Amino acid sequence: MFWDRKIETLDRPALEQLQLQRLQKTVRRVAAHVPFYREKFAELGVRPRDIHSLDDLRRLPFTTSADLRANYPTGLLAVPLDDALRLHTSSGTTGKPKALFFSRQDVDNAAELCARSFVMSGVTKKDVFQNMMTYGMFTGALVTHYGAEKVGCLVIPAGPGNSERQLMLMQDFRTTFIHLTPSYALYLATFLEKHGVNPRRDLALRKAFVGAEPYTEGTCRKIEHGLGLDVYNSYGLSEMNGPGVAFECEQKHGMHLWEDHFLIEIINPATGEPVKAGEPGELVLTTLTREAMPLLRYRTRDITSIITKPCRCGRTHRRLHRITGRSDDMLIVRGVNIYPQQIERVLMAQSGVGRNYLISLEGLDEMTIKVELAEAGFEGQVEQLVKLQSQLAEKLRTEILIKPLVQLLPPGSLPVSEGKTKRVIDNRKL
Ligand code: AMP
Ligand code: ZN
Repeated sequence: MFWDRKIETLDRPALEQLQLQRLQKTVRRVAAHVPFYREKFAELGVRPRDIHSLDDLRRLPFTTSADLRANYPTGLLAVPLDDALRLHTSSGTTGKPKALFFSRQDVDNAAELCARSFVMSGVTKKDVFQNMMTYGMFTGALVTHYGAEKVGCLVIPAGPGNSERQLMLMQDFRTTFIHLTPSYALYLATFLEKHGVNPRRDLALRKAFVGAEPYTEGTCRKIEHGLGLDVYNSYGLSEMNGPGVAFECEQKHGMHLWEDHFLIEIINPATGEPVKAGEPGELVLTTLTREAMPLLRYRTRDITSIITKPCRCGRTHRRLHRITGRSDDMLIVRGVNIYPQQIERVLMAQSGVGRNYLISLEGLDEMTIKVELAEAGFEGQVEQLVKLQSQLAEKLRTEILIKPLVQLLPPGSLPVSEGKTKRVIDNRKL
């Protein structure tokens, strides 16, 4: 199903022509209205009229999240403040947030891209949407809220948490799709299990859009099993409107990134140079339609790769593989680079392991992985626990090259957050 078949299936040459026009316009606008970019252009000796092809993108400066903070609150605005319609901030940041402004057209485009993304996986106006993302400054809830309204769905702005109320709403209004973080999805699955609710039998749920933080294929399967629905990976970041940047289609193999609104680059985070086609690296995005706050070559810090093959669904916008982590949440433990995602992959593939875990770093590089046991399957025998513990430690050592201490905990004993979950606690005294 298509929301806008023409643009979603536009042939590559036409799509690239559109991108070039939009890039040239964006560059002219920031040169005229944003002193930060004007100065960067002067330093690099680049002028808007030097951008003749998409390859010239590489002549333009990168923008980092530090640049956004340094220009807080209004330094990167490209329109008069009067023309800004909405302010969002990005989540999970310490210190000053990043202030992100939307014009009327930006608000509309953000909703449009979410509508496209929902319809791509089969959502129609008959669907009932219970939005379990946090409402507020965070883009996660509001942007998808407007997208689903645009499709014509009944929207229930539930927000996260309060699972009893979520269940009541899902039952009374026959909710068919939800949007939530992977951690809350796992929690909700446990909650339903505890309350004897069999989602396939008792609820009308069909799909969950799961995003806002990285998760593995194993976690995805657990959510699908626990909530009795199809999970679609949904990616976005506040700097690029929020959700609706890249979503999965019905093929569920990689997320189509809407290339008429964003230019993709994948770079080596250490050198800034592009990686070879299909290789993993840091995703860098340039906005092509944002009015209030256009950003050039924004370093997302998210690690992914482009799927080079065309998709069977017929869309021409390229797909990204699941985000495997962030270039800046990499842990270095005893000299070894470790992504929390590697640990999650091992844990979620192990039977007997439940849904929540916490990586804790103490002292001089001691790593402890606290992991909850599954509700079912444990018969209370100590030998069974000891075996599971040593199996996990061994599998982890193969994956991350160091052997952590594994602590098994009863189900439900680790804290659950409503927004993004903190998976790593670093109290090292190094
Ligand atoms: P925010 O700007 O607060 O919306 O956070 C955006 C960040 O959340 C992204 O840069 C990613 O690191 C993360 N994120 C969002 N969606 C996903 C997803 N589907 N998979 C992995 N990480 C995600
Ligand atoms: Zn597709």
